[in-house]
Amino acid sequence: MPPAPLAAAGRWRGLLAWTPSPLIRASLGLHAGSLLAMAAEPGCWPGALSAVAANHLALTGCMHPRNGLLGPVLTRLPGAEPRIALTFDDGPDPEVTPRVLDLLDAWGARASFFVIGERAARHPALLREMLRRGHGIENHTHRHPLGFAAWGPGAMLREIETAQAAIADACGEAPRCFRPPAGLRSPLLDPVLSLAGLSLVAWTRRGYDAVSPHPGRVLARLSRGLGPGDVLLLHDGRSARGYPGPSVALEVLPALLARIAGAGLSAVALPPAEEAPRAAATAGPAGAAASPAPAAYASR
Ligand SMILES: [Zn+2]
Repeated sequence: MPPAPLAAAGRWRGLLAWTPSPLIRASLGLHAGSLLAMAAEPGCWPGALSAVAANHLALTGCMHPRNGLLGPVLTRLPGAEPRIALTFDDGPDPEVTPRVLDLLDAWGARASFFVIGERAARHPALLREMLRRGHGIENHTHRHPLGFAAWGPGAMLREIETAQAAIADACGEAPRCFRPPAGLRSPLLDPVLSLAGLSLVAWTRRGYDAVSPHPGRVLARLSRGLGPGDVLLLHDGRSARGYPGPSVALEVLPALLARIAGAGLSAVALPPAEEAPRAAATAGPAGAAASPAPAAYASR
């Protein structure tokens, strides 16, 4: 099914809601200043281009998933309540995800699943079951392209909207949050997410369960310093396999859930609209203000 285009008014609202981070504003100013300088004095082009190149290098250095210099990103839950957010990427997987759901039920835990759109389209009943059990379903692109962070804004928006449409078509609810493949964020991603009405979510800690076959090490990475507000990342799709055995996430999850309960914490799905990540996220340098929640998020 083709992506349902956002209404023109919604697009404008989304774009108007975008507040560039201080670094993005400075970068835009530097580009404009360099162009003006070269127009006024063509001989200064080596210096102007060097400044632009240095700026691009700095922007590239800020693409780390948890870096807030390019715009707001949720890395911890807001508030001091004794709760954590469990998040699972790359599903749904018809073999692993149902077992993850049963384990979560056994511990009274809730989670958020960042699903791949084309997988969601193949397993709509599984998505509906996730919602029925009280979990959240979020957007992790349509095809999980590993070069996503290098794409232009138009291509990123089409990929995200295609996933939004596939997920909404599969389960009847559109995601509110987005996580790019490998978490890598493009300097151009923030305005794209404003247009799509989505909030960027990273994590506090990840266990590398998608690449590590060692459940003990994955558990140690996830539970080291476990505390209120943590956002933990695991994978219910494409998770590394032990030798032999089930997915690493499935091996780790019972012990992780026991540690969460033992620490007096509850595992919840990502926060409701009034705690929108775009409003409560890690801000830019020196506590720069985060963008307001897009209308599409705030209205949910
Ligand atoms: Zn992924």
